[in-house]
Amino acid sequence: MKYILLIFGLGLAFIFLISTITSIAERQKRATFLSFLGLILLPTLYIAPLLLINDATNYYSYALIALSITFIIALLYNPHDPKYKTSTPNHIFDERDTMFSRMELVPGTEKYNQYYATKPENEEKDNLFRQQPGLLSPKAIFYNPLAFSAADANFYTVSKLGPFINDKVSSTKVEIDADDLSIFVKEWVKKLGAIDVGICLMKDYHYYHTKGRRETYGKKIAPRYQYGIALTVEMSEQMIKAAPKGSVIMESAEQYLKSGVIAVTLAALLRNLGYEAQAHIDGNYEVICPLVARDAGLGEIGRMGLLMTHNLGPRVRIAVVTTNAPLQPYNGKVGDESVIEFCTKCKKCAENCPSQSIPYDDRSISDNTLRWKINSESCFTYWTKVGTDCGRCIQVCPYSHPNNLMHNMIRFGIKHSKLFRIMALHLDDLFYKRKPPLGKLPYWVEYKPSK
Ligand code: SF4
Ligand code: SF4
Repeated sequence: MKYILLIFGLGLAFIFLISTITSIAERQKRATFLSFLGLILLPTLYIAPLLLINDATNYYSYALIALSITFIIALLYNPHDPKYKTSTPNHIFDERDTMFSRMELVPGTEKYNQYYATKPENEEKDNLFRQQPGLLSPKAIFYNPLAFSAADANFYTVSKLGPFINDKVSSTKVEIDADDLSIFVKEWVKKLGAIDVGICLMKDYHYYHTKGRRETYGKKIAPRYQYGIALTVEMSEQMIKAAPKGSVIMESAEQYLKSGVIAVTLAALLRNLGYEAQAHIDGNYEVICPLVARDAGLGEIGRMGLLMTHNLGPRVRIAVVTTNAPLQPYNGKVGDESVIEFCTKCKKCAENCPSQSIPYDDRSISDNTLRWKINSESCFTYWTKVGTDCGRCIQVCPYSHPNNLMHNMIRFGIKHSKLFRIMALHLDDLFYKRKPPLGKLPYWVEYKPSK
């Protein structure tokens, strides 16, 4: 009995020690205090009876051990619940319906009139964002000349990658085994700076049917590639912390550029090997990146409509390369029911969304697809009011915590245990608050005008 108590006590001490050290490193005062309290109190429950063996402590120890074993068995329970099944889109989307496409419509032009003639229900909603100062505008609420100019510089650079997303294919085809090329591509892309990479067989719903940006507006998209390679890059937690202030759009722009450079380089590699390949990067998409990434095994689509990845949740940006090179697509289970279940109960993003654009209800059918559909118009109107891409939902999400031992253990628990999912929801609120205060901008991003 002594040894069992000792093992439980030391196990708990280990967990709370890791939690304390991690919370100190992350400068989370409240989480540090609670972890330290756990470190002192919980192991003591197990170790104290060892110092005082008598009849009373014997009963206490047996009860404690029985309770602990029951708890561990309950943690292993992870039933499949069809209510949380991952869903496959049953609809081909039009890029012209995206907010970035609608933002480019100029009142009085033919494009503008054509679009709102087919979608009159959108005009009134879109006029609301047209009345706002705009993204990166000096008149926006969170205007910061340093942050906005840096973001603009990154967006400018990524826009210059446009001509390189597709190019001439080498006339010399290198014959290569699909497994070997897949391994090379995955390892190389990670070496170039991606956090995760996956490959999937392209399906019709991965593609938009019509392009909606800039000079390609209205061009029909013909699905013509067999495989999609999805890659994710991390958005810095430090920069997201102050969302929706200026650092968030700096970070988005930087990671659009980084993922864009990797995707363009990867597409060039595949063309050098003699195979057609096209990169899909910021402003130049023919595919819906989160759906390609989900089917390539990189995560699941959560309540806020973003890809929830295994180790960083929604705190990533995605780029895709489509190609006809021989590759080995992901053949594991697509999606993640534990994410759907967790999101169904959590709703933290919905409660913290400043424009109340994220639904509180369960998934419902929208565009023939079972999903959570955010109110893109009110979200985008908020962006154009504050000048940034907000990101408050990403910042508060319990899956967004840093990629380290403690948070990965928690994410593992959430994935594999129903009881742990319930506990994690409450513990996240307890340690980090249900409505976390807005973080500070990194000191070097703060703008102090000269006197
Ligand atoms: S905050 Fe909660 S509900 Fe929203 S995406 Fe994250 S886990 Fe899901
Ligand atoms: S980006 Fe901001 S406004 Fe848009 S859904 Fe997320 S929290 Fe809401």
